[in-house]
Amino acid sequence: MSAPTTAGGSSPATPGRVEELRAALARTTARTAEAARAAGRDPAGLHLVVVTKFFPASDVRALAGLGVRAVGESRDQEASAKVDELTAPGSAVDLEWHFIGQLQTNKAASVVRYADVVHSVDRLRLVRALDRGAEAAARTVDCFVQVDLAAALGRTQGDGRGGAAGADVEAVADAVAGSGHLRLRGVMAVAPQGVEPAAAFEALAALAARVRGSHPTAVDLSAGMSGDLEQAVAVGATHLRVGGAILGTRPAAG
Ligand SMILES: *Cc1c(COP(=O)(O)O)cnc(C)c1O
Repeated sequence: MSAPTTAGGSSPATPGRVEELRAALARTTARTAEAARAAGRDPAGLHLVVVTKFFPASDVRALAGLGVRAVGESRDQEASAKVDELTAPGSAVDLEWHFIGQLQTNKAASVVRYADVVHSVDRLRLVRALDRGAEAAARTVDCFVQVDLAAALGRTQGDGRGGAAGADVEAVADAVAGSGHLRLRGVMAVAPQGVEPAAAFEALAALAARVRGSHPTAVDLSAGMSGDLEQAVAVGATHLRVGGAILGTRPAAG
């Protein structure tokens, strides 16, 4: 017997899966509320971006049904397919789409057609490609400048996750702010392996303050994942990108 199919295409999440997601979401919400309390912050200032990469569109639909407002994806091809399915007439869900993965310049025009926010803007060529793409799509896209914290912490070897380093951070931020179809939200980073997240995020907060010096409206900070969201909230993170803690172990590395 085959499962019923939604108008968008794939089978819906099973009731068991929906319950699993509901419980994991509740645990994560409790964790972020506790992190906010410990940091003396208002939990309303924390935005949860549920990272759904490698998980099916049915999970994304179920999350929307459970009250999730924002999801994050890291590969254009996979994200486009989910967006197509989840915005199909008659079965559309209301979600903010965040692009969080390393982005090739030649994919920029595709990504800005569906992404409301791009967290991984790390070089001038990409800024120009995103702006041109957003103009062509008649949209304005919010951007975070991704920072390479390994470099900021003086490690010679980056960990290959992308990000601007040194003076490029401010140059990329200036370029985003000066682009007609992009809006600078702030900076983003992934804590490098082998470094205490607290130390990494302190370096990030210092960089964020520098960028804010020239761009006072760039008040957001995208930091914190399943393993380190408390440390990120402690330094002022506003956008938490949480995957595994909500969806479970990813079917493939990423
Ligand atoms: C996959 C990913 C996440 C989510 O990581 P989890 O450890 O599963 O919470 C967050 N940010 C980026 C940039 C990612 O690639």
